[in-house]
Amino acid sequence: MNQQKCIECGDSFKGRIDKKYCSDYCRNTYNNKVNKTSKNLIRNTNNRLRKNYKVLTELNKTGKTKVSRSKLISRNFDFNFFTQIYTTKTNNVYYYVYDQGYLELDNEIYLLIKRD
Ligand SMILES: [Zn+2]
Repeated sequence: MNQQKCIECGDSFKGRIDKKYCSDYCRNTYNNKVNKTSKNLIRNTNNRLRKNYKVLTELNKTGKTKVSRSKLISRNFDFNFFTQIYTTKTNNVYYYVYDQGYLELDNEIYLLIKRD
């Protein structure tokens, strides 16, 4: 038996070296917190992707169009969230949010393109 410190409440307890919690209550509390954090992360990321997808879909009615960076930003488009990157042989980098893609052209202009 070793003197251990509970990672949930910080209380000391005696137990095996691999024991992390003083009680079932603390184990459950700790695990619920961890699960909640990862669930929130996934939900927030999904929401961000959904919003980005909506912006691209609304701006790209024809399947291929050009928009300015400021227009995307004014609609709260977040360039950190995409589902796929595709680099062409000519080194053009397309970012995709599901089937809606964009490519940065010159002068802060973006080509929006929908995958067939
Ligand atoms: Zn505890």
